[in-house]
Amino acid sequence: MKILVTAGPTREPIDPVRFISNRSSGKMGYAVASAALARGHAVALVSGPVALAPPRGAVLTRVETASEMLAAVRRRIAWCDALVMVAAVADWRPLRCSARKIKKSRMPSTLRLVPTPDILAALAPAKRGRIFVGFAAETGALKSEALRKLRTKRLDLIVANRVGRAGTGFESDFNRVAFYSAAGVARQMQLMRKTTVAREIIRWIERKASFKRSA
Ligand code: C5P
Repeated sequence: MKILVTAGPTREPIDPVRFISNRSSGKMGYAVASAALARGHAVALVSGPVALAPPRGAVLTRVETASEMLAAVRRRIAWCDALVMVAAVADWRPLRCSARKIKKSRMPSTLRLVPTPDILAALAPAKRGRIFVGFAAETGALKSEALRKLRTKRLDLIVANRVGRAGTGFESDFNRVAFYSAAGVARQMQLMRKTTVAREIIRWIERKASFKRSA
């Protein structure tokens, strides 16, 4: 199969030296790309800024902002059979980005923010027979939020994980996730390595694709 994976955070610039971003390390997305390659799939990886070596064999596109990520995913969507949106896309960006470094003495006390494009929502019309997998990182009501995102983003599978706790989620090598599928199947996993979670996601996609082919 041809699998398009996004990974890492996005950075939304305030000026040439400052930005808004989040804690995503890219480990989960890079693990998904590596797991797909290990299973013999062709992989395109669209990555926000991370400190990881790209997996060998993936076609890598580096991006900074949510808009750049959307453009890169758009360019690749017709190519892929499955899209796995692991990236922690920044939800807001500063309305304006100053071309010059803003002086400390001139820094406004408030920053006007506008929403970034929702990549999965923007790509929904191009979904057709493709498998879409999303992630939900939550500090609160995990299941209901994951199920809401599964529906509104028209996903086949959402991988939900709790963030804000030490030892799991952002920056960690481990993750405790739950899978919720559009077919109504829920699966709560143990705390496991992100590489193991990644293999489970690729296996799920392979099973889904073979089920679709035989349907
Ligand atoms: O709504 P929320 O950001 O929690 O949804 C998470 C899922 O949506 C992830 O799969 C993420 O990659 C994707 N997303 C997106 N575009 C955004 C924000 C999130 O595609 N602007």
